[in-house]
Amino acid sequence: MSDKSLAQQLSEGFQELPGVGPRQAQRFVYALLEKEESFLKNFAALITALPGQIKRCEQCFWAFEGRTRLCQFCGDPQRDAHKLLIVERDTDVTNIERATGYSGKYFVLGGSVSPTRTDPQKELRLKELYHAVSTRPIGELILALSATSEGETTGIYIERIMDKLQKKQQFRITRLGRGLSSGAELEYSDGDTLKHAFANRA
Ligand SMILES: [Zn+2]
Repeated sequence: MSDKSLAQQLSEGFQELPGVGPRQAQRFVYALLEKEESFLKNFAALITALPGQIKRCEQCFWAFEGRTRLCQFCGDPQRDAHKLLIVERDTDVTNIERATGYSGKYFVLGGSVSPTRTDPQKELRLKELYHAVSTRPIGELILALSATSEGETTGIYIERIMDKLQKKQQFRITRLGRGLSSGAELEYSDGDTLKHAFANRA
């Protein structure tokens, strides 16, 4: 067992979640202390059940809840397989789906190229992306990356990797329009901005 108190350990756990700092984490811990035992047991059981319920799609690597091999987007024959939209994170898929009316396929990269990553080839799904593009009839590759320097770098990186394939397979590479304010994480863009950026991709 850890030397830290239960409250400390819980607080550290909450701080692993996006946007939660030490103060917010402490508020969560205190809020839990006020809850009924039945709530806490049920809540803990839900969290414990997550690893067994969440799968990564074998094609686009999106995390989803289900028992199928493919997610709802990859498994849907109605969706346009000529379009492949690349995002950094799982939540980006949900946001784009909600905001834009996009009807093609997705690919979740698992992050962005940043100075702290020494080996992006290993840490991001670049090899998998190359494989996906080289084995499919892609017409448009859409880079839906954050409007941050990391997002920019990631885009340049992908374009470089795709260079040869693009000449051979003749697909377009487009990026989201300038609707995304500079410095914006895709994850935090509101629906209208995202919709506009998507419509104005070039
Ligand atoms: Zn999928």
